Amino acid sequence: MVAAVLAVGHFIVPASHPVAQSVLYCLVSGGTAVAMAVGIRLHRPTAAAVWWLFAGGQVIYLSGDVAYFAATAGGDTGYPLLANGLYLSQYVLVAAALVLLGRRRSPQRNTAALVDTAILAVGAAVLWWVFLIHPSVATPGISAMDRVGATIYPIMDLCVLTVAIRLLLGGGARQRSYQLLLAFLGLTLLSDTAYGLLSLYGMYANGGWSDAIYLASYLVLGAAALHPSMRQVADPVEGRSGATLYRLLLLAIATSVAPAVLVVQNLRHVESSDLVVVTASAVLFLLVLMRMAGLISAQRRIAMTDGLTGVHTRRFLSEALRAEGERAARHGTSLAMLLLDVDHFKHINDTYGHPAGDQVLTEVAHRLRDACGSNDVVARFGGEEFAVLMASDPDGPAALAERLRELIAGTPVLVDGRTEVAVTVSIGAAELPGEASTDDLLNAADAALYAAKRGGRNRVVMSGSEPAAATPAGGPADIDEQIRRWTATVTEAVRRRAHDPDVPAALVAGVCAAWVVMRTAGAEHAGLTAAEARAELRRCRGVQFHPQAVDEFLALEAAGLLDAPALVAA
Ligand code: GH3
Ligand code: MG
Ligand code: MG
Repeated sequence: MVAAVLAVGHFIVPASHPVAQSVLYCLVSGGTAVAMAVGIRLHRPTAAAVWWLFAGGQVIYLSGDVAYFAATAGGDTGYPLLANGLYLSQYVLVAAALVLLGRRRSPQRNTAALVDTAILAVGAAVLWWVFLIHPSVATPGISAMDRVGATIYPIMDLCVLTVAIRLLLGGGARQRSYQLLLAFLGLTLLSDTAYGLLSLYGMYANGGWSDAIYLASYLVLGAAALHPSMRQVADPVEGRSGATLYRLLLLAIATSVAPAVLVVQNLRHVESSDLVVVTASAVLFLLVLMRMAGLISAQRRIAMTDGLTGVHTRRFLSEALRAEGERAARHGTSLAMLLLDVDHFKHINDTYGHPAGDQVLTEVAHRLRDACGSNDVVARFGGEEFAVLMASDPDGPAALAERLRELIAGTPVLVDGRTEVAVTVSIGAAELPGEASTDDLLNAADAALYAAKRGGRNRVVMSGSEPAAATPAGGPADIDEQIRRWTATVTEAVRRRAHDPDVPAALVAGVCAAWVVMRTAGAEHAGLTAAEARAELRRCRGVQFHPQAVDEFLALEAAGLLDAPALVAA
């Protein structure tokens, strides 16, 4: 508020009082530095260094002004060295603040944003060069010092503009304070450019409207530091690299600048620095190609990678299968395909919820990826189905498949950071040259997977050996039916539990019996005793049952109130 009054005062004081004007001007810019220090103390931002750099820049700028006024009051009309040194240091601090702010907001490397920044910056550089720098340095009779000044200030502005563009393209929330910071940068660049152009055409006067823009930029910077949202401006933001319509439009304008400038200069019959403009066009062209290459590789990555689990997609698997099939046929080598399907996955979703189901899928995918070699292709084949394509080793694919099965069944998956879910997979395996073609390879693995499911799940079946994996008398359908019945009993018991105090015993019996039936009936676990099944239930916390039911069972068992084998026998 005080600064605003001073700023207005600066323009009320007549130009015949340059000293009073200068004092008011310095008070506004000094006041901004004080406002920033107050803002930092008051709001304690997470990235105080960013704000101190801006404030430091402001103090240095003020010192530059004081040095400049002192020198010009002493009759120096050229480029006072001290003042200009201080002015230039201010750019360095502002650029450092912007780089730091950009790093804090977008810590990850973002090549697409960098290329876009380069395109926009080169476009701006062409304009600056053709309309400001080149005409300034080409002015007849200009002193060497003035020539340096006319070149170096626009270059500094361009550097600040470049880091500001990078910051803008980083996206993310734009808090009020952040918007004010951007407005400050916009006003600074505008006033610098206005100053440059006015000086070029001999129209600059102290206290003119370009000074008004400078003063406005200080007020805006002070307001940015005083606004409470200054605390969050450096918080990390979600990175963006997409080619939105708005961004494409900006890039189109930036890439058209160089040729458009050539046309304009030609129409004005002004001798222009064609070499610089043509070089800029070539650079822009290469940058656009770089951007295209980036987009193509990003699209390819997306098409190849499953969004949930991070393993390859089915599309990638199909391509790999074709290529590897041809290679195997050419070199007479073997190729193996495993198809894995998570057992009773629908039940996991129903019991623990879909997010937990997603976590299970991700964990299964990671275990597969870690266990397979870097040349093997691990892909998500469908919802809860995975595929592994690999060169077959001397032991054949069945050995690896068995290892993968144990890897998944051996350790429960932790969901929500605390609930252990027992997960098993059924695996079908097939091998080339055993099968006639890659299509047959896939079909054979699929048929073997079905056989594994029919055989009681949590097992590996090698293509061609399906009959050997058949389940003994009692039949897989029988086992499934029993599991289904017991599971329904438990679910119903849980539902009734709230109303009926006698339900827990039935509940626990249901859980335990269903588990034991399931684990002991399969051919693979024929020797499993009820006690072992209970131990396994305790370890896995029963993927097939309601977690509350398992908790009931474990609590009663811990209290010694339960004789599970007797219940099962009953
Ligand atoms: P089976 O042992 O016979 O394979 O039984 P299942 O329950 O695993 O098989 P089913 O095909 O009946 O169920 C698969 C379920 O997988 C159905 C679907 O809702 C679920 N599913 C598919 N994709 C996803 C996914 O990305 N996330 C989650 N959470 N569930 C998925
Ligand atoms: Mg399935
Ligand atoms: Mg399944």
